[in-house]
Amino acid sequence: MTSKKIKEAKGEQKFAAASEAAVKEAEAGGKEWAKTFDAITDFVFIQDKDFKFVKVNKTFCDALKKKPEDLIGKKCYEILHKSDKPWPNCPLAKTLKDKRPHTEEVNDPNIGVPLLISTSPLFDKKGEVTGIVHIAKDITERKQAEEELRKSEERFRVVMKGSPIIVAITNRELRYVWIQNPYSDFDPEAVIGKRDDELADNEGTQQLMQLKQQVIEREVGTRTEITFLLLTGSLTYDVTAEPLRDTSGRVIGVTTVALNITERKKAEEALRKSEQWFSTTLKSIGDAVIATDTKGNVIFLNSIAEFLTGWKQEEAAGKPLNKILNIINEKTGKPAKNPIKRVLREGVIVGLANHTVLIAKDGKRYPIADSGAPIKDDKGKIIGAVMVFRDITEHKKAEEIIKRKLEFEKTISSISSRFIGIFDIDHVINASLRDMSILSGASRSYLFLFRNNKEVMDNTHEWCAKRVSPQINNLKNLPSAMVSWWMKKLYKGKIIHIKDVSKLPQEAKAEKGMLQKQNIKSLLVLPLYIGEELAGFIGFDNVVKTEEWSDDDLALLRISSGIIGNALERKKDDEGKSEFLSNVSHALRTPLTSIKSFTEILLKYKDVNSVEHRKFLATINNETDRLTHLINKLLDLDKIEHGESKWKSAPCNILNIIQNSINEVDPLIKEKNIVLKFNLSSQNLIANGNEDKLKEVLVNLIGNAIKFTPSKGEIRITVKKKKETIEVSIADTGIGIPRDELTNIFERFNRLDNSINRKVTGTGLGLYICKQIIEKHEGKIWAESQGGKGSKFIFVLPEA
Ligand code: ADP
Repeated sequence: MTSKKIKEAKGEQKFAAASEAAVKEAEAGGKEWAKTFDAITDFVFIQDKDFKFVKVNKTFCDALKKKPEDLIGKKCYEILHKSDKPWPNCPLAKTLKDKRPHTEEVNDPNIGVPLLISTSPLFDKKGEVTGIVHIAKDITERKQAEEELRKSEERFRVVMKGSPIIVAITNRELRYVWIQNPYSDFDPEAVIGKRDDELADNEGTQQLMQLKQQVIEREVGTRTEITFLLLTGSLTYDVTAEPLRDTSGRVIGVTTVALNITERKKAEEALRKSEQWFSTTLKSIGDAVIATDTKGNVIFLNSIAEFLTGWKQEEAAGKPLNKILNIINEKTGKPAKNPIKRVLREGVIVGLANHTVLIAKDGKRYPIADSGAPIKDDKGKIIGAVMVFRDITEHKKAEEIIKRKLEFEKTISSISSRFIGIFDIDHVINASLRDMSILSGASRSYLFLFRNNKEVMDNTHEWCAKRVSPQINNLKNLPSAMVSWWMKKLYKGKIIHIKDVSKLPQEAKAEKGMLQKQNIKSLLVLPLYIGEELAGFIGFDNVVKTEEWSDDDLALLRISSGIIGNALERKKDDEGKSEFLSNVSHALRTPLTSIKSFTEILLKYKDVNSVEHRKFLATINNETDRLTHLINKLLDLDKIEHGESKWKSAPCNILNIIQNSINEVDPLIKEKNIVLKFNLSSQNLIANGNEDKLKEVLVNLIGNAIKFTPSKGEIRITVKKKKETIEVSIADTGIGIPRDELTNIFERFNRLDNSINRKVTGTGLGLYICKQIIEKHEGKIWAESQGGKGSKFIFVLPEA
């Protein structure tokens, strides 16, 4: 039953009761009745069966502005409806017909106001209808209220239609009884009577039904979010379910209000994702990040910032940035300006000052670099600041390495460029030692060169730092034998790296003493070669502290040693070359001069007799031979020195070679009546080498022995096996060689000034060539002599 019908029914009862009372009163016929009748605020009138007014109350008369006598006897439809027939829906007609009360709303423009009219029959004693009590009520106000309600309902409906809110009532069986705004796919009519799972069976609808069931069972409202997965995508609703009760309070169903929050959810999810993305990015970023609020108080630290500052996010949060990011100027040690203040005040990006050092909570220091920037909202308002910084220790180290590398390269290039072209070698060596020391931080750097077959060494060049006493003058003419430990290392081509002189081993006792005398704490020394020959050494001293020398120092020494060694070799070559040229030209010019003079005499003087003529021609012939011999020797020499002659090397029997050599010089031996003695330790002495070249050596040495030994003298050839070598010596009883010339005679064109040399010709190349050949055989050659008691030439060759 609708509320309207309920109201109507109640009205009907009310009117019926009123008319009964009126009849009773009428029957009583008292004045009180008339008064009451008139006092009723509704329109009350009694009519007969012909619709004629029998009685009218005052309210009715007043409303029509008539007197009762004007109305009595008149028909109601004539008066009220201004019509000649009854009103179509007139309840009076119905009451007359079925003798029952009726109520009807009458809206007749002729009346002007809406009326609720009730009619009740009046019976006589026989039960016949004698009249009708008519009560009419002005329902204008009620109508207006109803209209308002209707309009408001309509408005609600219109509003709801456009809104994402679904309102529904479900009964205890979870079937829809009423729904407003079902999902767009459904017609409200199709939804009524259905359960959610009959409309769409999925997780969402199951969840919704469970929710409603729960509300029914527990009789309390609840709220949750439910997502419905549809083919077209998912929809999320914020669902509020409340129990629906009847007037007795019994739960008869569930009211659900569902708000579509899909978009909001998507936005929330996107926001959550982007926040997560940002926070993950910030957390995992390689730089340290600290964010502050507008007051400069810390709100966030990523893990790198936590590590560098030593503060954990929980401890740091809310504290002023100054406290967490404690920075000082690396050079002055004073607190550095924290850029965050300016960032917050001016909204600009501010970089850290150079040389900023962060002091962590535990006191550790990190050189840092980077900047602060404002955090702004979408309207550009500053809502905080962010500091991004990084530990630049490694970067600084790398910078330092690059700087040092550059300095290193600069030093090397300046050293090597000094040695290009014509230069004063002593000056450039000194300048290079200075550059090397400055780069390596050495107190002293120096060059030592050997002489006299490495028996003696001199400190030839030196550079000293301020307040380090020079040693160069104390270190001249030093016998190498004094420092045998040192020399052994150099011979082996080893580096001498002494980190702490005081810890030198026992076998280096002599060296330790010498070094400590010079106050040297640590040193680094490298052998220096001229060509392939060990020529000296180059080194760094530290007189201040014990020190491990770096790879860079070593490289610096190695390169410099190479450069200086090359320069010295070139110098020696140049000196040698000019000396060589003057020697060669001298040697060539001598025979040429005599050839030229004798030829001129022969041409000029026709009266030269035949004996003289022959003598002159013989001299020319001899000199030509000498010249040819010299030129051949020079060509030989050039081949040996420049390695062009590719000797065939093979195992050769030394005794055979000696025998062949003796055979070649035999006439000379005989000529001078020289006694040749031969000592052999073994018959089978085989060396690896070139027979012809070794024969050349022997012929030369035996030839010299013959040359520098007077007649009837003695030559003794001894061949011995010594360890893995074969030693050959040729001793004579000749004029001998002064001690200090023993090594010089192996130099090119070196002939000693003596009575024999003044008489006999020679090239001064013989011994030099011998030395070259023997050394090419990886052997050694030297001379011994006891002054006038003859000479002895010895060479050793590795055994095959
Ligand atoms: P040359 O014999 O043509 O002068 P060498 O190079 O063979 O040239 O010898 C160089 C010098 O060495 C000789 O001039 C001589 O002064 C010296 N010499 C070489 N062998 C002997 C020797 N057996 N006894 C003395 N002096 C020698």
